[in-house]
Amino acid sequence: MTHRKEDNRRDELMEILWRLGEQGEPTIEQVKENYPPEGYLAVLDELTADGLVERNGENISLSDKGMEFAYGIIRRHRLAERLVVDVLGGEGMEKAACEFEHVLAPEITDAICTLLGHPKTCPHDKPIPEGKCCAEARDKLESAVIPLSKLKPGKTAKVASINTRDETRMLKLMTMGITPGAKIHLRQKRPAFVIDIGESQLALDRSLAEKINVWRPEKS
Ligand SMILES: [Zn+2]
Ligand SMILES: [Zn+2]
Repeated sequence: MTHRKEDNRRDELMEILWRLGEQGEPTIEQVKENYPPEGYLAVLDELTADGLVERNGENISLSDKGMEFAYGIIRRHRLAERLVVDVLGGEGMEKAACEFEHVLAPEITDAICTLLGHPKTCPHDKPIPEGKCCAEARDKLESAVIPLSKLKPGKTAKVASINTRDETRMLKLMTMGITPGAKIHLRQKRPAFVIDIGESQLALDRSLAEKINVWRPEKS
């Protein structure tokens, strides 16, 4: 796979626009502060001419086409970070991630994603855009893992994972003893979810029950 240096600069700017976009619509000023190489305006003009970027006065955003493109870059970058931190011990994370994001072929990206267990966030806790492999893995797992909200009352199941990035919620669940491996007995679903866990009985609202994934019990 060949890759020109100029392409890297385009990738880099798209990546910055995506990252800034995670916090709201970026302005020219913010791009200037965040884009290290010289000549960002020329690159920006190029991307705009190619229909990857849309400008609206001081505001800049990625077009749908640009989003699709940046999605792949961000995915490779954040997966590479995970790879370096989780498998290689963390040395030189940024540098490796910035190189990987330009050169990883889609099949290799998905292979790394699979190797790492389809992680949802990078080491900075930013979301990793999903790949085809993640969706496939989820479909396969779906038969084995279900949200607590889909469990039938009267059944007991083991917690498989907690599906939230919200730290307050995560903590709340943990203090209730709801962690992977814990056994939950579902008493009722209405008007609230009532569960037995260990010696205690707890009430949960539906939105919380949807965040708890459990292993589907036999014959449910
Ligand atoms: Zn990161
Ligand atoms: Zn995946």
